[in-house]
Amino acid sequence: MGRMGSFREKIMRFMAGRNGLDELARAESWIVLLLLLAALFSRWAPLYILALALMVHMYFRVFSRNRSRRYAENQRYAQMRYRAVVAWNQKKTRFAQRKIYRFFRCPQCKQKVRVPKGHGKICITCPKCRKEFFRKS
Ligand SMILES: [Zn+2]
Repeated sequence: MGRMGSFREKIMRFMAGRNGLDELARAESWIVLLLLLAALFSRWAPLYILALALMVHMYFRVFSRNRSRRYAENQRYAQMRYRAVVAWNQKKTRFAQRKIYRFFRCPQCKQKVRVPKGHGKICITCPKCRKEFFRKS
């Protein structure tokens, strides 16, 4: 081990009680990398500034000792990410089904309703609130 071991120990001692690289920090580091690449190719200065600002924010969070606050931020990020993934999957499913189904929103409760295509004008009953409405399928 020798030098490497003691270096590791030093880092571990320095990082004790600090937030470290959580999911949000990891995501930020990827965005920083992408921004830097974009800045490199576009040579557009604001991108460098944005990347730098985000990097400062990322390291601030990594070295922060206010772990409960950083944890709450990370949870918010995880929730946002989860919602984005769900929304994206819904869009994907819809796109895959676009030739077979038509999608409407119930005029009363805004529930999304899926009906098979090509049956002309049909009466749709909302599965949630039982409201009936007519649409061309
Ligand atoms: Zn409804």
